[in-house]
Parts: sequence; C-alpha cells; structure tokens
Amino acid sequence: MSFAIKHNNPDPALLVKVLEAANTGVVITDNLLPDNPIIYCNPAFEQLSGYSRDEIIGRNCRFLQSSDRSQQARFDIRAAIDAGENCVVQVRNYTKTGVLFHNELYLSAVKNESGEVTNFIGIQNDVSARVKAEQDLEQNYRETEQTVIDRTNMLRESEEYLSSIVETIRESLIVMDKEYKVLSVNNHFLSTFKVSINETKGRLLYELGNGQWNIPELKKMMEDILPTNNPVLDYEVEHEFPHIGRKLMLLNAHRVELEGKFKDRILLAIEDITERRNIEQRKDDFLSIASHELKTPLTTVVGYVQMMQRLMPEQASDKFRSVVGKTEMYVERLNQLLTELLDVSRIQSGNIELHKDLFDFDKMVAEAVEGIQTATPKYQISLKGKAGTQYFGDESHLTQVLTNLISNGIKYAPDADEVEVYVSRVSNFIKVSVKDFGMGIKEDERKKIFERFYRVGAIQKNFPGMGIGLYICDQIIKNHNGSFWVESELGKGSVFSFTLPVDQDGREVDHA
Ligand code: ADP
Repeated sequence: MSFAIKHNNPDPALLVKVLEAANTGVVITDNLLPDNPIIYCNPAFEQLSGYSRDEIIGRNCRFLQSSDRSQQARFDIRAAIDAGENCVVQVRNYTKTGVLFHNELYLSAVKNESGEVTNFIGIQNDVSARVKAEQDLEQNYRETEQTVIDRTNMLRESEEYLSSIVETIRESLIVMDKEYKVLSVNNHFLSTFKVSINETKGRLLYELGNGQWNIPELKKMMEDILPTNNPVLDYEVEHEFPHIGRKLMLLNAHRVELEGKFKDRILLAIEDITERRNIEQRKDDFLSIASHELKTPLTTVVGYVQMMQRLMPEQASDKFRSVVGKTEMYVERLNQLLTELLDVSRIQSGNIELHKDLFDFDKMVAEAVEGIQTATPKYQISLKGKAGTQYFGDESHLTQVLTNLISNGIKYAPDADEVEVYVSRVSNFIKVSVKDFGMGIKEDERKKIFERFYRVGAIQKNFPGMGIGLYICDQIIKNHNGSFWVESELGKGSVFSFTLPVDQDGREVDHA
C-alpha cells in the first residue's frame, strides 16, 4: 500500500496510520463531553495497558491508576487540565492484570478558535525500566551513605577505644613525624616528665623542656638504629632530668608500618624502670650480704663437723656415727646452696672469678659422672664418647655445670633409672650432652629456665631447688665463649647440651 504525502496538508488517513503504527501509546480525550472520556487510543496503548480498545474507549484516564489514587502526579494532571495547559508527569499506572508500570505521560490540550479546550492528547511511555534503575541507584546511594555512617562510627569507636588504651597504659607514649616533631603524647608522659601539652605538641623532640630530651643515646637510637632496625626494643637509657632527677628508661621505638609500607610516623614508648631497677638492686644486695653472712659461720660448722668425723671415738655407737654422718651430709648440702647463691650474686655484680688452666677434659667428665654415680647408685649414669683433648678453662666450674645437669636429669626424672652423658669433638668444638628420661619441659618454658630463680610452676612444690642452677651453668658456659641449649619432649625427657670452642691445642678460642 502506498500513500501520497502532502507536506502542507497531510492526508488524515495517513496520520491515523502513523498513530496506529507508533510504538508509543497515544490517547485522545474529549473534554467537551462529561468526565473527559477517552475517544481514541492506538494499538501501542492497548499493548501498554493490557486493555482492548473496546474496554478503553469511553472511560476517563483515571481508570489506569486503579486504587492508587493519592499520588502527586494525579494532582499535577488535574491542575494542568483545569488550567487547560500542557504537562509532563510520571504517573503510576496498572495494567489490566494489575501490574504496576511507570507511565511518562505528555498531556497536551487542544483548543478551538475561542480558546476552549476541546481535547487532550496523552502520549504515554512505559519508563518502568528507567524508574527501576533510578530507584536502584537511590537505594545504592542510601546504602553507601549508611555504610559510610557505620564505618565512621566504627572508626570513632575504635579511635576512642585506642585512645582509652593509650591513656590507661602506665607508660609514656610519644608519636612523632619523621622530622621528630611531636604530634601527640599521652597523659602519662605529661605527668611523668612534668610538662604541659602546650610545651610538647608541635615541638621537636630534642627541644622539649629546654633540650632535656637532647640525649645522645636517644639520638643514636632514633637516627642511627631505628631506620635500619625497626622496631628498636628495650633500649636502656639513663639520663639526669632537671626537675625529676636521674631516670633509667627502657625505650621501645617503632616506625609505624601500614601494609608493609613505612608511614611518616614514629612511636616512642618510654618505660621508667628507675624504681624497678632500684628494687632489684636492693634484692641483689640483700642476697649477696645474706649469703656472705651465712657462709662465714657455716664454714666454721663444716670445719667442726669434719673434726667430729676425725675425732670419732673407736667405740662410738652406730647411731652416733649415723647422726654425725647425716649432719655432715646436710651441712654439705647447705654449703652447696650458699655457694650457688654466692655465685649468683657474684655473677650479678660481674665478679665471678674463673681460674683457667689446661686440664684433661675427658678425665674431668669421667670424675664428675663417677662422683654422682657413687652418690646415686639407683641410677645408671652412662658415659659415651670422648673429647680427646686437653682444654683450657675453669675445671671446677665446668665440673659444676656437668654435676648440675646430671643432678637435674636425676631429680626431674623420678620414674627413670638412667641418665646418658655424651662427649664428642665436633669441628673446633667440644660438645657435651646430658640426656634424661624424665618429665621434659614445655616449649614456652625452655628459654625461661635459664633465667635466675625461674622454676617451672607446676613442679616447684614437689622438687627442692632454687631455680639458679641452670642460670649459673649458662653464665659459666658464656664465660667460656660457649653455647648452651636444651631440647625436650614433654613426658619423654630432655637433652641439655653445651659446646665449647677449642683451638688445635685444646685451648679455648677467645671470640671476644
Ligand atoms: P632448680 O633445679 O634448683 O629448680 P635449675 O636452674 O637447675 O634450678 O632448673 C630450673 C628449672 O628448670 C627447674 O626448676 C625445672 O623446672 C626445670 N628443669 C631443669 N632441668 C630439668 C630437667 N632435666 N627436666 C625437666 N625440667 C628441668
């Protein structure tokens, strides 16, 4: 079929064909009839609304709104109709089956020569997809906004949480930028060093309080050590402060790192250990004085007991002999304990005296093993291997180490009946291991048992001791430039080993 298109005056039939072919819904109402009924709709509108032409013609457009009557768009349409004006509204309409669609309605008024509105033409488009996208966007926006609010709250809470920790800590904290300018400090810092926040914040660390923090060791730590060795832990600095006197401080410094990258922030924690160190010192002094004071009369007692043994009358009763024998044993034990305590205080004051000489290492080990074997016949103490060399060192102290290790191997293995001692020459070291089949030592205790007065909690009550044997052993081995360590399996036993460096002639190698 072909149409003649006249530009000036199009054929009305052609215009109708255009309307029929359009995929936009078109509705025409007659405003001169009561209730402004629909007098024309095109197929696209039928498609849009789901109603057939027969169901549409004669009705007012409001039927498309179903019961959704209180929408703003309705009032806008009403106002436009009353004013006889054109308008564009977005109105919620419902198809015949009740499905909501968002209708973008262009409403245009047709007027006659006298200006009276005769018809309304409604051009209708389903913009539901666009509305849904807009709504989704809105929803998304609202959710994002809520997330930002939640995150901000979380951040604020965690900031408050952190700052309450920072303020509760009994340690002075300073945060600085990379130029050592103070960004913040906690109250503990202010009260300990008797300064105000105004004198502190924004100032350079070394200028604080008339340069009282211009401490060479601190400078060295911050500028030389920290950049290469982050963090710096437990760095001791002693300094005389103008108002608060001499302070011993333990410094811990971190360059703040975030996801592997250094930020321009330095955190410096200052622990004042002056008082703690004084107490430790007083305790050490007491220990030293007490053990000296006890040792002097005890030495006399040891002498008297030995004299009693020598002067024992031939006819002395067995009971008497046994009493003197036991007295000697316990006096000797007491003497041993005091010697150990004195050793500790000598180590503490750096006064442990070593008497080094060349001696036969294997003979020393054999004698130590034999000594304990005689005293504890119930246990089988086996000795395997040889160093095969003379050694230059303090024989009596090394005997003390060995005796201590074997005694512990017996003491902490009440259900076993053997201890093994291995001696060997490994490269330029003599290695000695003492293996027991006792209770073993838990992983987290293995380092601590070398500290002075440390004893494994659970077993303390059942076994006598002061927790200083291994500490002394460790110091003795260190004084011979050796290494000392333990391997252990809980419930199975432990192996304490030490190595001592030797040169070709068996001399101790000086690594110092
Ligand atoms: P002491 O035996 O007087 O307590 P030590 O310094 O010799 O002091 O030992 C410290 C602690 O190490 C002991 O209290 C014990 O808990 C643990 N320990 C030492 N040797 C052994 C061992 N062979 N087996 C299990 N635990 C041990």
